[in-house]
Parts: sequence; C-alpha cells; structure tokens
Amino acid sequence: MAKDTVQDGLVVSMDYKLTVDGQVLDSSDEAGPLQFLVGYGNIIPGLENEMMGMKIGDSKEVTVQPEDGYGEFDDEAFMEVPRSEFPADMQLEEGLELHVTDQDGNHQAAYVAEFDDKNVKLDFNHPLAGAVLNFHVKVIALREPTAEELDHGHVHEDGHHHH
Ligand code: ZN
Repeated sequence: MAKDTVQDGLVVSMDYKLTVDGQVLDSSDEAGPLQFLVGYGNIIPGLENEMMGMKIGDSKEVTVQPEDGYGEFDDEAFMEVPRSEFPADMQLEEGLELHVTDQDGNHQAAYVAEFDDKNVKLDFNHPLAGAVLNFHVKVIALREPTAEELDHGHVHEDGHHHH
C-alpha cells in the first residue's frame, strides 16, 4: 500500500481539538500538533480506527463512545487507603493525581476522591471515564518512524525521550 494514508507503522502528525459536552478540553492550538505511531495503542482505539486511510490535509469529526475511549465510569474502581500510608507532610486535596504501584508492579494513575484524618479514598477511573469524546482532527504530515521509534512503539519528538 502506498504510504500516503494513515496506516499501521507510520507516524501521523495531526491538529486536533477535543470537545466534551460542548467544552474544549484539549487542542493543538495550545499543545502543538500531536505525533503518534499508528498501531501501537498510543491513542484511544476509537479515534485511531476512524483515522485509518485519511490523507494529508484531510480533516474529520469523530465521536468516540466511552467503551472506545476512556472506559465506562466504574462505581467499584475506588479504594480506601489509611492516611498513614501517605507521607505525613503530603498535602492532600480532592482531585489530586497520584501514581500508585500495585502488588504486581503495575503503575496506575489514581485521583483523591475524598479524605479525612484516617482514610484516603482513591478513584481509579480516568477523569474522562464515561465521557462521549468529540474530536476534530486534521492530518498535517505522515512519515516513516525511525528504527528506534519502531522498536519502542512510540514517537521520540525532537530527540526528547520519555518513558
Ligand atoms: Zn522510546
């Protein structure tokens, strides 16, 4: 297949705008174009699938339901942790994002749902769980990944290497 459309194994550069309930949450106007390697789970599947076959200059409106986005909101994805397991000088606040490691060594993001002197209730739902996502996307460039990018399964932008 000619490498002039969005397909697995190519790096896409795109302008985007994410709107939820009529509110713009994120856009390339502020962050700059997003680059991602197609086919490696770098963006949510509901958006990636809809972008397949787009050419440079094409734009599209894509609506992504929760199951193809950040998941349904799970009432059970909460956990109570004793306050004593957090550093005593740690400033807790509702909505604070924490990175926790489970017994299997998996890293996960959690958010402080509520807390008192004894317990901290953590919310493991993604902040956009349950949300219908409306994307406006425009493909601005396509390129082959470097061998290292392909090996890692993600883009290294401007030599900036983050893992
Ligand atoms: Zn890497």
